[in-house]
Amino acid sequence: MCPSVIDRLQKQLLELADRHQVDIIPGTIITNGYLLDSDMARHLKDLGIAHAQVTIDGPEAIHDGRRKLRNGKGTFRRIVDNLSDTADIMKINVRINVDRGNVDSAYEVVALLQNEDILPKVDIHFAQVNTSGNTCADIRDRCYGDEEFSHTLVKIYSRLFDEGIYRVEYPRVFTGAAFCGALSEGYFVVSPTGHLFKCWEELSLDPEKSIGDVLATTPGEEQRKKLEEYMAWDPFNMHECRSCGVLPICMGGCPVRGMANQDASKGECLYWKYNLEEMITLHYSCKMREAIDR
Ligand code: SF4
Repeated sequence: MCPSVIDRLQKQLLELADRHQVDIIPGTIITNGYLLDSDMARHLKDLGIAHAQVTIDGPEAIHDGRRKLRNGKGTFRRIVDNLSDTADIMKINVRINVDRGNVDSAYEVVALLQNEDILPKVDIHFAQVNTSGNTCADIRDRCYGDEEFSHTLVKIYSRLFDEGIYRVEYPRVFTGAAFCGALSEGYFVVSPTGHLFKCWEELSLDPEKSIGDVLATTPGEEQRKKLEEYMAWDPFNMHECRSCGVLPICMGGCPVRGMANQDASKGECLYWKYNLEEMITLHYSCKMREAIDR
């Protein structure tokens, strides 16, 4: 999305909020970070977009092999420089994508952020690369399964710990809120054609999975059914979830993947189901080492 579109949309949203006297929560942008320099970060912040998620695919050689400009040049160095320039302006979460092809060097990205003094100013998380339907079928062999990924996460964080980098994810308990905004009534993803979707994973020019249309006052029959499917999705109605120890930190996981499951007795298990004890142990070790080093 070019900045002028963001400007136009965000200004109109702010005007609407002002007219109806409602608060508007700070916006988040998901970006490859290439154009997110300090001027852009200040501009976005002035528009009420205070958070950014920046995705990195591995250390320089791997990232640049996967994410290059049209002229073949890499993007990694500029993204890291941008992180350095913007981390004091916006709240930034660096998402490090992990699959079988880059796992051995995933920790190097964090070590680099540490060496460049960026790490203390940003949040990081490692994300499982998934295929999305047939769109990414060519990378299917590279992707981890859910349980395997959860053990991979433990290995990555253990390696960071061994290298003296005391960062590890900690689960959050969902207090009343669902796992995903898609289960809220007023949550929509708008496609360029004006179709409304519940999940960006379903976003496509194919209206089959839409639940409405910005130009129509009432949804079509299929769209209404699709919306009802989302609204009815509830881990408390799934017997395996009801008796699951990690329900408060999972809430049935991703609804769109859960709905695609053949097994209707549970949702889409989050990795905490398989690695909670090890991650909590690591978290405790990190806190202890930080206290000793202080
Ligand atoms: S981990 Fe699996 S069984 Fe447990 S709450 Fe989540 S989806 Fe349900």
